[in-house]
Amino acid sequence: MTLSSSTQRGALLILNSGSSSVKLTVFRVEPRGEQIAPLFSGQLTGIGTDAQLSVKAATGERMANESWAERDTGSVPALLPDLLAWVEAHLPADLPLLAAGHRVVHGGADLRHPAMITEHLLGELETLIPLAPLHQPQNLAAIKVLADSRSDLPQVACFDTAFHHTQPRTATTYALPRHLTDAGIRRYGFHGLSYEYIARHLEEHLPQLASGRVVVAHLGNGSSLCALNRGASTDTSMGFSVLEGVPMGTRTGNLDPGILLYLMRKFEMDADALEHLLYHQSGLLGVSGVSNDMRVLLSRDDEASREAVDLFCIRTAKEICSLACSMGGIDALVFTAGIGEHSAEIRARICSHLKWVGIELNKDLNEDNAERISSPASLPVHVIPTNEELMIARHTVDLLTMRNAA
Ligand code: ADP
Repeated sequence: MTLSSSTQRGALLILNSGSSSVKLTVFRVEPRGEQIAPLFSGQLTGIGTDAQLSVKAATGERMANESWAERDTGSVPALLPDLLAWVEAHLPADLPLLAAGHRVVHGGADLRHPAMITEHLLGELETLIPLAPLHQPQNLAAIKVLADSRSDLPQVACFDTAFHHTQPRTATTYALPRHLTDAGIRRYGFHGLSYEYIARHLEEHLPQLASGRVVVAHLGNGSSLCALNRGASTDTSMGFSVLEGVPMGTRTGNLDPGILLYLMRKFEMDADALEHLLYHQSGLLGVSGVSNDMRVLLSRDDEASREAVDLFCIRTAKEICSLACSMGGIDALVFTAGIGEHSAEIRARICSHLKWVGIELNKDLNEDNAERISSPASLPVHVIPTNEELMIARHTVDLLTMRNAA
């Protein structure tokens, strides 16, 4: 990526803050040459139980694998000033920290692009907490702590919803009374930074696919799929919340809403109990009764684990067809994220349901995790590793450049 000369040389800190962990990636930014390159990445995990910092340099050496239990008061935000100090202490002397970029789950109906953090924007993002109560507060808490402890540091928010603003109303609307749609009960879509990264990758490396109709399957612990038509999102499997779509590690995916009414009446489940069931006890974990990790399920031979994997594969294949339908066809399929990038077996099993669509994998290429894994006669099927952090870094640099030029 080429930067304007108005951007300084330095480093960017990219943060993805959760309820008990923070993922961090630090990039080097150069005004010329190879412009944005990773320096190191890692995570602070187990906050509240057994806080642990692990960080690896981009070159592969381990930079930290240490207990932070002594500093841990159980709060993610409380550890962030220490984390920032750790990062700055490990930056090369000639690379000052230029800015922090954050992954923020929800930008609502109006925020269509990444934005520089201001007090006004923070206030706006707080009003969206009810739309993503499990994730938005953690994202915003990290921004506030950095704003308080380093008011001079520019911060940028990148929204998981923003990339989906190109969708037509038929893709974003639920069949609910109009006043509820107008009140914001609509499909937003998530994993937008991942899809945007894939769209850019296609444009740069596979332009003939970028101009067509591509279904992207982002299959990780959280999974969703996106219809990319000429590089723009026109439909996606996640909707109002991150629960809709295919079954995930611990989330249900699509569910008949009648089940919720039944559970409320028959078992007197309240909102908290339903939230726990839908977000944390379902999906691969719920069906298998064993694990939310696809690797564990694939290594097991019991019926419940097999059923969980079968369900994941057929529901993902059905979603691919649904998104192909909404684009009037499909010209290519892309797999990405933890399962999509690494599990040849899951890719093969999903594609075994799609022969009638014209999709067939080459066994050897698939097992080698090659970039193109389809047979010559098939529609192209690609494996493209996603990089949401790099996408956030690019947006952060763009906004810094615009700010410096203003
Ligand atoms: P997240 O949604 O948390 O970002 P990732 O995209 O990192 O998750 O994906 C994590 C998931 O990927 C793990 O839970 C695991 O099930 C799956 N995974 C990673 N490697 C493999 C593999 N070789 N085979 C099967 N599943 C894998």
